[in-house]
Amino acid sequence: MTAKIIDGKAIAEEIRADLKADVEKLKSEGLTPGLAVILVGDDSASDTYVRMKAKACENIGMYSEVIRMPENTAEVDLIEKIKQLNNRTDIHGILVQLPLPSQINEQTVIDHISEEKDVDGFTPHNVGNLVIQNDGFIPCTPYGIVELIKRTGTDIEGKHAVVVGRSNIVGKPVAILLLQENATVTICHSKTKQLSDVTKLADILVVAVGKAEVIKKDHVKPGAVVIDVGMNRLADGKLVGDVHFNSVKDIASFITPVPKGVGPMTITMLLFNTIKAAKKHLNR
Ligand code: NDP
Repeated sequence: MTAKIIDGKAIAEEIRADLKADVEKLKSEGLTPGLAVILVGDDSASDTYVRMKAKACENIGMYSEVIRMPENTAEVDLIEKIKQLNNRTDIHGILVQLPLPSQINEQTVIDHISEEKDVDGFTPHNVGNLVIQNDGFIPCTPYGIVELIKRTGTDIEGKHAVVVGRSNIVGKPVAILLLQENATVTICHSKTKQLSDVTKLADILVVAVGKAEVIKKDHVKPGAVVIDVGMNRLADGKLVGDVHFNSVKDIASFITPVPKGVGPMTITMLLFNTIKAAKKHLNR
């Protein structure tokens, strides 16, 4: 079997065309959705992500603002900036680009984002909403992953989904979303024994580990849907996922490439969440 490649870029573009129409409608009602992205320090990868987010907003007619703060920014000053953004009526979504410099506690900062503008879905309020299935903001990468799986035509209900990785931003929320889609879910992590014995049971395998190509052909059940979240830069500059694409594609039924798989969907769901926040603002 040779897997079908899940074209995250094409799917993201399709969704963005619909979002652009949503933005035009909101504008005709007098509201331009606005996203503020705060970047602290000068990490080059973070800088690239922030630019991509701003460009994506611009492409669908949204307002975006990038706020750059120096590497030595004090936690209290970052929180003050968030409070100002919480009070602005032209900003509907606030995103603090992670990671933050070591003098700043990430969760303390996130806790200060208004839950109505928390388009990353990282505040405790929105994490709680996700768990109890209240309407809130679903974290962008997990949201995009589930959308990609659905668009393969896979019926998630009753399938065994194995998630490798248990981070707050990917592993845990994607496991919760798959559970809500009625999958039987297993979560693996760095202390899991005999990882391949578990991953081989997966009809749907989601890998978010952050280690280049650790999931190989002998970790994968023939016919599995494989979603590779990882983005790892090799010494030669090449970008690869957590899955060894060239061998796994020979036995999976569907697989996401890296790049152009999960990545474009993360930004798309950020746009989706910001538009949702703007719509909620309009209805209040
Ligand atoms: P974290 O480092 O926060 O979490 C990694 C997880 O993998 C941890 O739960 C860890 O276990 C587990 N793990 C580490 N090594 C192994 C191993 N050998 N076997 C099994 N589990 C292991 O990473 P993130 O979740 O933030 O990100 C994961 C990857 O996804 C990264 O490459 C990141 O760049 C990428 N990413 C991509 C995005 C996109 O839009 N495409 C968005 C977000 C992330 P333990 O908990 O025990 O330490």
